[in-house]
Amino acid sequence: MDNNCTILVVGSSNTDMVVLTEHFPIPGETILGGSFFMNPGGKGANQAVAAARLGGKVAFIGKVGNDIFGRETRENLSREGIDVSGLSIDPDHPSGVAQIMVDKNGENCIVVAGGANNFLMPTDVEKNQPLLRQATVVLMQMEVPMETILHVADSGKKGKKKIILNPAPAQSLSDTLYASLYAITPNESEAAQLTGVQVKDEKSAALAAGFFHRKGVPVVVITLGASGAYLSSDSFNGIIPTPRVKAVDTTAAGDTFNGALAVGISMDMDLVEAVKFANKAAAISVTRAGAQSSVPHLSETETFN
Ligand code: ADP
Repeated sequence: MDNNCTILVVGSSNTDMVVLTEHFPIPGETILGGSFFMNPGGKGANQAVAAARLGGKVAFIGKVGNDIFGRETRENLSREGIDVSGLSIDPDHPSGVAQIMVDKNGENCIVVAGGANNFLMPTDVEKNQPLLRQATVVLMQMEVPMETILHVADSGKKGKKKIILNPAPAQSLSDTLYASLYAITPNESEAAQLTGVQVKDEKSAALAAGFFHRKGVPVVVITLGASGAYLSSDSFNGIIPTPRVKAVDTTAAGDTFNGALAVGISMDMDLVEAVKFANKAAAISVTRAGAQSSVPHLSETETFN
């Protein structure tokens, strides 16, 4: 086991199965579609890949089924240089999959079957305590059970880890969880769901950030799509713009942003610099199609203007 890992991602992995279609079928209808693609996905795996490509030393704790998708996931993450010793196999449940239909207008319909992701338990984390011990930053999302997120947050806080929570998909969070966090990174709609404040500009972002600060979270980063990200910390409050690019596909923009931010924080970058770095990486990712396939490497991000 690599004992130098500094970023631990605890979260989901899925296989995205995409079928292109002229139009969506109505209930009960069978139609013949177009091309089929299979891509690695899941917010946890996407963010781990982003952090690894952008220069982080990354370990992943997650769960897959005893099936071909689980084996592919393990191989794919290993190829990215991620320590997968914390990826357990669930003998009873299949690997997570997302069934995605994309129509000719680019609209999509998605059904996620979380499978083994829904059975990542605190005991799985306990078995991998060394990974938690050696991390300085822990990055989580909300696609695995809440009890596991709470367990990691609690152990991480005791171990003085910097815990970053990307609250996606949003669901209400306990005060105990908020109090364990170093940073929270919602997008506009997640921020609105969690705080009740409709985030549409700098003033409303500041109001939403105030909610999280009162819950005890020192660093708030609200991603604002093409407008960049709002950072609120004890030394900076304001919107940090993202580079202007021609957006082709915004899938995994948030995941790329979070992976990059974790790298910046693990390297002790100033927070404004870390958000600039994350904006840059995420902006590159929206210029090309796909989830993990769109995530840039460090060299490309460093030379991007
Ligand atoms: P999510 O993908 O979770 O909905 P956002 O849409 O807020 O999150 O995007 C996350 C980050 O991706 C933004 O903060 C920004 O850095 C970058 N980004 C998203 N859309 C664009 C865009 N059209 N142009 C440049 N950067 C973008």
